[in-house]
Amino acid sequence: MDELRAALTSAGSTAAVMAIYAFVWLITGSLAALAELAHTLVDAIAVTVTVFAVKTSRKPPDVEHPYGHYKADTLGGLFGSVIVLIAAALIAYEAVERLLAWEPFTPDLFAAVAVVAAIAIDLNRVSILRRFKRSKALSADALHFTTDIFASAAVLVDFVIAMALASISYSLFREISPLVDVAMAAAITAIFASLSFRLLKASAIELLDYSPPDVVQEVEKVARGINGVVGVKDIRVRKAGEIYHGELTIEVPRGLSVEEAHEIADEVEKRVKEMLGGVVTVHVEPTS
Ligand SMILES: [Zn+2]
Ligand SMILES: [Zn+2]
Repeated sequence: MDELRAALTSAGSTAAVMAIYAFVWLITGSLAALAELAHTLVDAIAVTVTVFAVKTSRKPPDVEHPYGHYKADTLGGLFGSVIVLIAAALIAYEAVERLLAWEPFTPDLFAAVAVVAAIAIDLNRVSILRRFKRSKALSADALHFTTDIFASAAVLVDFVIAMALASISYSLFREISPLVDVAMAAAITAIFASLSFRLLKASAIELLDYSPPDVVQEVEKVARGINGVVGVKDIRVRKAGEIYHGELTIEVPRGLSVEEAHEIADEVEKRVKEMLGGVVTVHVEPTS
């Protein structure tokens, strides 16, 4: 499976989860199901952006984008991380709201079954999305739907506690239900806000033409290893999605003809390009 297939599978999963909650809402009129349905609309926006980002990032270079469209994926990752941040904030907001109203969880078997189905669908999609660690857009979606799984699991925990406690003592259940809710929401919010912030930072750094020192070192090693190269300097590498673009200056012996110097530069360009994957430009200077 490739990145685009993974993104499309994720979009299909969202459609399935949406159908489940729409069905539950139509049958029961439950407000919780309606809230989940509203959430899947946000999911639909997120997966649509991801499909678009992944699709665009794979387009070959064209006249207006001679360096390719790789950064579309990074931009998708940036957007996706913001969505996870918003989702985490909403989970916290809902929990605080229920704490203030001191409303215990209302157990609903039908909704619980729907939640189990949604978790199964999300587990499957996350296991696919997690395979594409180099794609920022798919990583953001993996994080998003992991957040959703935890939020759904929290509903199940609520359900189990409600079932177990309500039969023993309803007043005890009334007392602790909102607290359990808030504790779970706080944990989910803290974990996923920090994870999404990390991804947001990684995407932003990449968009700012990040130049990893280890890649620069590797370029220098490759260039120095080529016959005729006496020196290497001014290496500039920048990350664009899954590939790197690079520029470097090589020093060749004085007195070479243009043809000879060009041949060396061509070889450097070829080898460095094999390593970086993007556009590589080599400038030639005679040794000083
Ligand atoms: Zn979601
Ligand atoms: Zn273009």
